[in-house]
Amino acid sequence: MLQTLKKYFGYDSFRPLQREIIEHVVAGGNALVLMPTGGGKSLCYQIPALMRKGVGIVISPLISLMKDPVDALRANGIAAAAINSNNSEADNRAIIDLCLHGQLKLLYISPERFVVEQKRFLSRIPIALFAIDEAHCISQWGHDFRPEYTQLADIRTTFPDIPVMALTATADKVTKEDILQQLNIPDAQQFISSFNRPNLSLQVCRGYSAADKLKHILALIRLHPHESGIIYCLARKTTEELAAKLQLYGVSTAAYHAMLSPEERNRVQDDFVNDRVQVVCATIAFGMGIDKSNVRFIVHYNLPKSIENYYQEIGRGGRDGLPCETVLFYNLQDIILLKRFAQESGQTEINEERLSRMQEYAESQVCRRRILLNYFGEVSECQCENCDVCNNPPEQLDGTRYVQMALSAITRANEQVGFTTTIDILRGNATREILAHDYSQFPTFGVGRELSFRDWHDYLLQMLQMGLIELDYKENRHIHVTDLGKSVLFQGKKIQLSKVIKEDLRVKSKRIKTPVLPAMQTLEKPTRSEVEPTPVEDKELFERLRQLRIQIAKEEHLPPYIIFSDKTLHELATYKPKSIAAFGTIYGVGENKQAKYGAIFVETITGKKEEIKEPSKQQPLSKSHMQEQKEAHAKAYAQWSENEDKELKRLHEQGFQIKDLSIIFQRNTGSISSRLKKLGLR
Ligand SMILES: [Zn+2]
Repeated sequence: MLQTLKKYFGYDSFRPLQREIIEHVVAGGNALVLMPTGGGKSLCYQIPALMRKGVGIVISPLISLMKDPVDALRANGIAAAAINSNNSEADNRAIIDLCLHGQLKLLYISPERFVVEQKRFLSRIPIALFAIDEAHCISQWGHDFRPEYTQLADIRTTFPDIPVMALTATADKVTKEDILQQLNIPDAQQFISSFNRPNLSLQVCRGYSAADKLKHILALIRLHPHESGIIYCLARKTTEELAAKLQLYGVSTAAYHAMLSPEERNRVQDDFVNDRVQVVCATIAFGMGIDKSNVRFIVHYNLPKSIENYYQEIGRGGRDGLPCETVLFYNLQDIILLKRFAQESGQTEINEERLSRMQEYAESQVCRRRILLNYFGEVSECQCENCDVCNNPPEQLDGTRYVQMALSAITRANEQVGFTTTIDILRGNATREILAHDYSQFPTFGVGRELSFRDWHDYLLQMLQMGLIELDYKENRHIHVTDLGKSVLFQGKKIQLSKVIKEDLRVKSKRIKTPVLPAMQTLEKPTRSEVEPTPVEDKELFERLRQLRIQIAKEEHLPPYIIFSDKTLHELATYKPKSIAAFGTIYGVGENKQAKYGAIFVETITGKKEEIKEPSKQQPLSKSHMQEQKEAHAKAYAQWSENEDKELKRLHEQGFQIKDLSIIFQRNTGSISSRLKKLGLR
């Protein structure tokens, strides 16, 4: 099994749960697999399909979801194809012929087509397994129900002896049970993988104006030159306006939304996948059919409708396991708009509940990853060290005075004002609205000018979340003071607010991507000179390898990440294999790619032509050394152990700088500094 993994995919080890699932299905069992986007779902059916006799049939809801995996499988030397309405009938015929002659290992097919074909050619060929991808589409409780999926119900009757796998990234309980019932596989073993994606950093920015958001986004893009990102917006208009603004700053970007023609949508998607466009400003419709592994940042320009949506969208980042930054902007306009959507949706109650859970996440005072994991049913007490709350724990302040100022302004205006006017009163802005209503005569006019607009917006959001105020959605979103609010205003009840965090992205240092880590044991009595020099990534080589990848991708009409992932290029630029054999030990290099690309990559790395016949005396790069390095890397996001804390304290006392500590402990500088803070050392 491990051989199959290495041979075709070039990986040395399985990700969590993959091995168990594969073993179960290879032995003929049915399975329900719940894994987050980017958790390595597809290997769970691809490997059993390779190991069992016959063709693996993958039922997938969108044509766009079939193209990428088929390309990736072929690039790894696996016979795969898709039957769908994009092909000519002659092409489809040819693919069916391949199946009939036993020359295909994996076949992707739409549910409609499957229903037609199950009594035709499918009944005449040996089948390894059925994998139903995006299986939540079969349930009317899932958020993208597709009626044609219900026709899959009789798959068990037609093929009683073939294992059926249902795979989805949507975890809620009703949907799960519905899937099992609809597919008639009550006996299926359930594999629920952790929804944790530790390489995604999580950040929420509250109360930002459009100008603030633009500044923040530009800084983020500058931190990721040549790297891909997606910016999700709620409205079509926003995607276009934002893309136009970013273009003014020289960013290569495109808008993507449902009103574009299918050709335009395909073009944008294609440009993004092939690294011709760096940033896509998109509505939620984008990304569903894309398996691009090297998306390095995901921005939510507006609050998403639910945590499911949010998690699915950020899940499109960092699929290669390398760091991906996610930023969520959240302000009052979003709540107003989403609340309206929820009320007009026909499922008001459930959608309002989803929205309020989303709001709670955005307002959270505890580790954001913990909230997400708890939401997906994983009880967790984690402090992830990779979210804004962990890295910058919110400080509390006695906010009673601010809250009283705001409540008093609202009460004096007879609760006939919204957020903006309230803030204008507090900050003493004599706008037309203020003058028209004589609000400038209030004793509260200008009492809060010490705070910025954004600070006030943030505090009002906190007050809303705490139930001190509520919005009247029927009446122009005017603010009402609740009974709890009144007790602060009139009875002096104390209120704690969390301080607004001001982050300056310009000074934020870029994460170290492939730093080095001497094993902890070698640090028994460390002095700096004793910390051995270990391989460091050669940035210039990485860039040359990236160019080579683009060139090959163009020649083969494939997206660059299907040739090699970013992770593979980083390893190549770090370990610099000098022979084709050594090249084959790198992450993501299977036999097919080793044979196909070994010579050209080794030549680019060494500057010399590699002998095609590998001389046996030439020592490949010591595998065990590389393995050691990789295993050490895996600690990047792990929890701090007691020993590490001790070690950190000791090294800190010996005068090691944060930069050095970040290399030694294989964590980013922010995480080191927050850990030092936690230990009371800073
Ligand atoms: Zn955290």
